[in-house]
Parts: sequence; C-alpha cells; structure tokens
Amino acid sequence: MKIGFIGLGIMGKPMAKNLLKAGYELIVLDLNKIAVEELVSLGAESAETAAEIAEKTNTFITMLPNSPHVKEVALGKSGLIEGAKHGSLLIDMSSIAPLASREIAEALATKGIEMLDAPVSGGEPKAINGTIAVMVGGKKEVFDSNYELMMAMAASVVYVGEIGAGNIAKLCNQIVVALNIAAVSEALVLAQKAGVSPGLVYQAIRGGLAGSTVMDAKAPMMMDRNFNPGFKIDLHIKDMTNILETSRSVGVPLPLASQVMQIMLAVKQDGCGVEDHSSIVKFYEKMANIEISR
Ligand code: NAD
Repeated sequence: MKIGFIGLGIMGKPMAKNLLKAGYELIVLDLNKIAVEELVSLGAESAETAAEIAEKTNTFITMLPNSPHVKEVALGKSGLIEGAKHGSLLIDMSSIAPLASREIAEALATKGIEMLDAPVSGGEPKAINGTIAVMVGGKKEVFDSNYELMMAMAASVVYVGEIGAGNIAKLCNQIVVALNIAAVSEALVLAQKAGVSPGLVYQAIRGGLAGSTVMDAKAPMMMDRNFNPGFKIDLHIKDMTNILETSRSVGVPLPLASQVMQIMLAVKQDGCGVEDHSSIVKFYEKMANIEISR
C-alpha cells in the first residue's frame, strides 16, 4: 500500500521511517530537502507538491507544525484537494486547533475526501521506536479501516470521537505535560537552593507518586543542561494558545495552564523559543538566581 507523507520534521521523519520498515511504500514531501533525501535514500519516492502526492496515493498523512500549515497543504494552491480522488483520506497527525480540523474536514468533504485528526504524544524518542500514543477523531468506520496503518507507528491508537476530538484530547495531553514540567522545575530548583542534590531528589521520588513519564524524560535534560528539542517551546506556546482559545470558547477557566503559558512566553523572550520545553526550568532558575545540576 502506498502512503503520502508530508512533514518530515522531528516527529514526521521517524514516523515515516517506521512506515517504510512496516512495508508501506511512501511518497514524501517537505520544505527541507535534506529530510526528503534521507527518506529517498531509504526507498521512498519524493513529490514536488501535495497535489502530486494526492494524485499518486489514496491515503496521505500530514505531520506539520500548526493549523495554517495543514490548511495550506490540504486546501491551498497545489494542495491535496487539487489532486485527490473521491474516497481519498487525509490523516492529519499534527497538533492543530480542533476548529481548524473541523474546517479542513468540511472543505475536503465537498470533494468526497475523508479526514481523521490523529495527533500524537510521546515525543521524538517514542516516534523513533514506534511507541507514540495516537488519539483519533473522525468517522469510526474510517478509523477502523486505518487502525493497522496508524499502529505501524504507535504503541496505542485510541478513537476519541468525531472530527476535532483527537485534537481536543491532544490539548488535554499538553496541559498535563506543561504543568508537569513546571512542577518538576519548581521542585528541582527548590532542592538545589535548599542544598540537596536535584539528582538525588529525582532518584528518591521518581518511583513514588510524584514520578511520571514527563519527569523521567525532562528532569535529566534539565540537570544535564541539554535543551536540544525534543519539543520546542515555540510549538508548546502554539498548543497553549489553542488550549486557551478552546477554554474560552467552551467556558472552562484554566488557571494553571494560563500561568504556565506566561512562563513559556517569558522563556521565549530570553531566546529559548527553539529550545526543548524543558527550558521552562530556566524561568525558575532566573527567579531563584541559581542553576540546577545533578
Ligand atoms: P518540526 O518543526 O520539527 O517539523 C515540521 C516539518 O514540517 C518541518 O520539517 C517543515 O519543513 C515541514 N513543513 C512546514 N510547512 C510545510 C509545508 N507547507 N510543506 C511541506 N513541509 C512543511 O515539528 P515536529 O516537532 O515534528 O512537530 C510536528 C507536529 O507534531 C506539531 O504539530 C507538534 O506540535 C506535534 N508534536 C510534536 C512532538 C515533539 O516532541 N516534537 C510531540 C508530539 C506532537
């Protein structure tokens, strides 16, 4: 089966590689030609436009930064909609605004093109070893017939409701991740300033109730001063923007998420927008005038 894959960044590239490993044929597209060449060297075909991908395949996956990128690739000039056949399917695995997913799906439906919104969680390491978690919105029968394809990149693929529901689930995920990183940052900066090794505090608490996947992924990065993304602060600000817009539209106050958004904006102003979101710790370090180490 031939799949179109658009967006070969930190997440998309390893996800595409896992599809190749699982025996799918791929046609790929990215603005970054180096990433395209890497996939071509592994056996993928490349395309010049999204429309070309849609002409040559019936199922296309997008893994792009945000709503405007997905809209452009799906509906813009030389977009998927221009080349796609009736009955084709877009599986958008980017994290975008739920409303944008619904708008794109409606526009595609006018040409008989189906869509699932299927954002992912797990970060680069889980994208590489094929163990991401996928949360999917759209028609249940379309989900069922594409479950195996999504599982080729994932450890879990869960149907959460109609189109847009996948991205609502992802926003919930991003609240928990953001607040968890802030909590780990507060705790480790307190440990350092109080004269107790953050590395030992981490070892002591990670097996108890405070332990988490986020703590295991991010505390070592903070202590080792490794802020290579991972997941960029800029992308998490994008998600927080979508979270706060959604919270306003459905009338749910999010006092803690709002605070962490302000922290992320401050960290970005310090030049860390393209760093991993574990650089949230730098906000706390600056306030306490201390830097954590193991
Ligand atoms: P990234 O910036 O590394 O990759 C995005 C890719 O899209 C880039 O290679 C870019 O060149 C390409 N691109 C942008 N516009 C394009 C266009 N018009 N045509 C073709 N290619 C285009 O981002 P990422 O970290 O891989 O994240 C992708 C999505 O997955 C985002 O929505 C992000 O929020 C989400 N996500 C990321 C992580 C993570 O840990 N990095 C985890 C879960 C979800």
